[in-house]
Amino acid sequence: TGSLAVVATPIGNLGDITERAVAALKQADLVAAEDTRHTGRLLQHLGLSKSMFALHDHNERAQVETLLDRVEAGENVALVSDAGTPLISDPGYIVVRRAHERGLRVLPIPGACAAIAALCVSGLPTDRFVFEGFLPAKAAARRSRLEALEDEARTLVFYESPHRLMATIDVLVSVFGPERPVVLARELTKAFETLYAVSLGRLQAIALADPNVSRGELVLVVGGAAEQVNSEETLLDTDRLMRRLLQELP
Ligand code: SAM
Repeated sequence: TGSLAVVATPIGNLGDITERAVAALKQADLVAAEDTRHTGRLLQHLGLSKSMFALHDHNERAQVETLLDRVEAGENVALVSDAGTPLISDPGYIVVRRAHERGLRVLPIPGACAAIAALCVSGLPTDRFVFEGFLPAKAAARRSRLEALEDEARTLVFYESPHRLMATIDVLVSVFGPERPVVLARELTKAFETLYAVSLGRLQAIALADPNVSRGELVLVVGGAAEQVNSEETLLDTDRLMRRLLQELP
């Protein structure tokens, strides 16, 4: 019989595709993708031409049985999202759940995930953490979600979009206080990769002063309730270009 492979793809740098992901895509009879044009470009980069199946938040429930009928009929289906690991703030949960209910084979092809990449370079405790995904879009709901997390001792990981970053930092400062440590991880694995490891209050000031801070793809990693900022606040700017330029200076 066929199988459903949950295949991680890069979060920016195409070099992060794994050998097993390439093999799974090569062997797939069908590629279920969030955005078929986006995934089409990845397949083209890999020199592959594949039948595709559009699977996004708006049709996942309606399409799940059709997709799984094909696995049951013996096809190998590769499930991918636009970037990183499917199901992590991306479609796929309904399909994987139903695949188990239907007794179908589900196999993981692990790889990049922005949350894990950001957490692991944050310098904040990694032994226990909570992934919160995107905060609610509406201001009242986002505040109450954060209020519920006020005493959370584990490191918190959030995804955020550029146009909401400033508002989210403002409410983080107001709920968690300006002293709480935070790491803003921007454009991970890409040309303008930058890490800001500061306090919430300092991040607020930095983001206000420089609109570039909120550009691109962003992960916020927030220290748990008991975390203190290092006495010497550090601003880790890993913008590769800047580092290289600085190295050139006498
Ligand atoms: N499934 C993906 C994963 O495994 O990371 C996440 C998909 S979610 C729709 C997209 C969000 O992930 C972005 O808004 C951003 O918060 C985060 N993200 C994705 N790529 C990123 C990158 N290269 N650098 C920083 N954050 C990234």
